[in-house]
Amino acid sequence: MNPNPAGGDDRSFLAVDAARAAILGALAPISGRERVAVRAALGRVLAEDVIAPCNVPAHDNSAMDGYAVRAADLRAEGESALAVVGTAFAGRPFSGMVGTGQAVRIMTGATIPQGADTIVVQEMARREHDRVFIPAGQKKGQNLRHAGEDLAEGGVAIAAGKRCGPAELGLIASLGIAEVCVRRRLRVAVMSTGDEIASIGRPLGPGEVYDSNRYTLHGVLTRLGCELLDLGVVPDRPEALEEAFREASQAADVIITSGGVSVGEADFIREMMNRMGEVAFWKLAIKPGRPMAFGRIGDAVLFGLPGNPVAVMVTFYQFVQDALLQLMGVAPLPAPERFPVRAAFSMRKQPGRVEYLRGRLQRDGGTLAVALAGAQGSGVLSSMSEADCFVVLPADCTAVQEGDTVLVQPFHGIV
Ligand code: AMP
Ligand code: MG
Repeated sequence: MNPNPAGGDDRSFLAVDAARAAILGALAPISGRERVAVRAALGRVLAEDVIAPCNVPAHDNSAMDGYAVRAADLRAEGESALAVVGTAFAGRPFSGMVGTGQAVRIMTGATIPQGADTIVVQEMARREHDRVFIPAGQKKGQNLRHAGEDLAEGGVAIAAGKRCGPAELGLIASLGIAEVCVRRRLRVAVMSTGDEIASIGRPLGPGEVYDSNRYTLHGVLTRLGCELLDLGVVPDRPEALEEAFREASQAADVIITSGGVSVGEADFIREMMNRMGEVAFWKLAIKPGRPMAFGRIGDAVLFGLPGNPVAVMVTFYQFVQDALLQLMGVAPLPAPERFPVRAAFSMRKQPGRVEYLRGRLQRDGGTLAVALAGAQGSGVLSSMSEADCFVVLPADCTAVQEGDTVLVQPFHGIV
């Protein structure tokens, strides 16, 4: 693992893409798998391909309520009169044969009776007692769903590496499969560092702040389906940190810390981390969230995030989330979702760093625009709560004028 793509000169700024590439290039999926029932596979990553043991649908069937007919019986002009010889229901097929000049009343999902090759929707047909009149203009094979058109027997229904969502649960069940093989959950240890950080549940002392980072991290990691090991708040003392890191590296695949990686604080932590493992301290060309540490402590991967609460979330979403998905065995990694919208704000910006502003999407006539969500300080967590997207300004951007096109990265995908 070479966690230092800046070439060892850690005084220079590291570009976002270089940092992402260094992280993703250093990590391979964890081994370990288990079999779980379909419902329990929600959010889990498939360790093996799901192979279709049967066709879905299993039989050719009707896509509409109507009449199953033989196209050869239909006249090119005028109406064709056919004798209705029975009914096919979903789950209760018509067992006879549709002969010349005959039709069968058919419901959506019912198996196509033998002899028939075309479905005429009921709205088009005119029924008189046991005869049905079909207008010209029908196409042979219309309104049929073919066996295997959703999933073909023996084919890969879902490839390994897929993280199961609602559609996958349904798809697995549609094949009659009750259990699937998934990767084991990723074990992630989380700790907050800092002498000023207080745990909730007691009054704040002078100069203290309540620990929020462990709670936002709890939220994102739980949503990702990780197994959490909460190591609490660790004071800025080498022995306390060393003890916490030792415990974390033995129990977890990944350690995520917040605080303690900025320049003023890094020295003893750097010395300790490099004694216990191999860690690079980066100065990222991003705002907020400049400092970040990445490497290994024992067998565990370490992400040392900055302390500021917004910076924690920005660095988590930009660097850590995809790294965790890769460790969880997700393949291929989803591309970061970004799209251009109109800026409903103006601002000046220093060139050199990618900036992640907190934005709110809004309808502006028929188009989408983005406004800024509250104060943009890196400690202002309420901006994250008010926002529904990041506005991503590239490093070379120096100003945004209202009406310019900017890129946004929405917080929520479809769940
Ligand atoms: P640091 O990176 O340790 O210098 O911390 C930067 C800022 O983030 C300081 O103002 C810290 O008080 C604050 N901070 C660090 N850790 C946390 C935490 N767990 N919860 C809330 N604020 C924090
Ligand atoms: Mg600190």
